Amino acid sequence: MFLTALLALAGMSLPARAEDPAPVLEARSASGPCNVILVGWDGAQRNHVLECLDRGVLPNLRELSRKGTIVAIDILRQTDTKAGWTQILTGYNPEVTGVFSNSRFQPIPERLSVFERLEAHFGAEGIFTAAVIGKKTHIDNDPPAYVPIREPARAGKAAPKKNARPGPEIVVRDGVRCRVQPGKPYFQASKGMDLFENGLQKDAVVGARALEVIESHKGERFFLFVHFAEVDQSGHRFGENSKAYDDALVSADTWTGKIMEKLEALGLADRTLLYVTADHGFDEGRKQHADAPYVFLATNDPEVRRRGERADIAPTILERFGVDLDMLAPPLDGHPLTRDFRPPMWREAAGPRDL
Ligand SMILES: [Zn+2]
Repeated sequence: MFLTALLALAGMSLPARAEDPAPVLEARSASGPCNVILVGWDGAQRNHVLECLDRGVLPNLRELSRKGTIVAIDILRQTDTKAGWTQILTGYNPEVTGVFSNSRFQPIPERLSVFERLEAHFGAEGIFTAAVIGKKTHIDNDPPAYVPIREPARAGKAAPKKNARPGPEIVVRDGVRCRVQPGKPYFQASKGMDLFENGLQKDAVVGARALEVIESHKGERFFLFVHFAEVDQSGHRFGENSKAYDDALVSADTWTGKIMEKLEALGLADRTLLYVTADHGFDEGRKQHADAPYVFLATNDPEVRRRGERADIAPTILERFGVDLDMLAPPLDGHPLTRDFRPPMWREAAGPRDL
């Protein structure tokens, strides 16, 4: 059967090839720009996606994988949204970005996101970078906020608790003590992008906006991040094994298919690399994703040759655009999926069903 063969091919059993660098994206087409679209299926659990592929209800993901591959992505850090997309869109671990989890974060420092890296590489006029995002919370760009502290200052300071986590930063603004709420992860990064739209919620709104953006920038080189939120939303509401979760995967697949159709219709299909991935899975049968490290990457990129982790996706994209990864500072934590590499911290038990 096609899928079984595909999955067998996609695992670690790929014959090792010499460490030759993958041809850069430009090589695919001598004339005209080349593009990358990263499609996020927020909260799509690997096993559930594989079951849906087996049932034939994700025809577009299947078609995409048929052109390239589908590989396992295992998450080595926090399995939540802020940590997830930050790692995917930068290629760095939280020690560099400061984005550890949904509750522990700061703005990603300037210049570290894929968007800013590509703007720096091609020049502002050389590429159009955009993000069209379903969620608001966790993938947002609000500035830091200063919340006045109402209670009177205590006479005596209590002794600090041992090993207490540091509290929020306190500053005095116009004579008022304020608690500092850190800026959101994309506060800096979004300034270096051509378009950042979040909070669109519904897949149909996100998808339609993505199609518009592709249409209006078809003549330029572009990098587009499209984020579908409904898989995650239905998982939280109804659970991972619900029909709603199934339906949301089908919805994400349908819209991914519309993006593929659009690329075909515009004649961009053979010079646009499409990567579909998730920031975290879901706890089996549950409504949360506390320990949900099993996701996937499906792509039409024939150069992707191995499984990996979330931080490997940004280097893959940057390398395919011709960015010299060795020149980046600080060095990326991830490694391109186009080169053989075995991460040192591999989780050996790779989930109930592996790719
Ligand atoms: Zn998420």
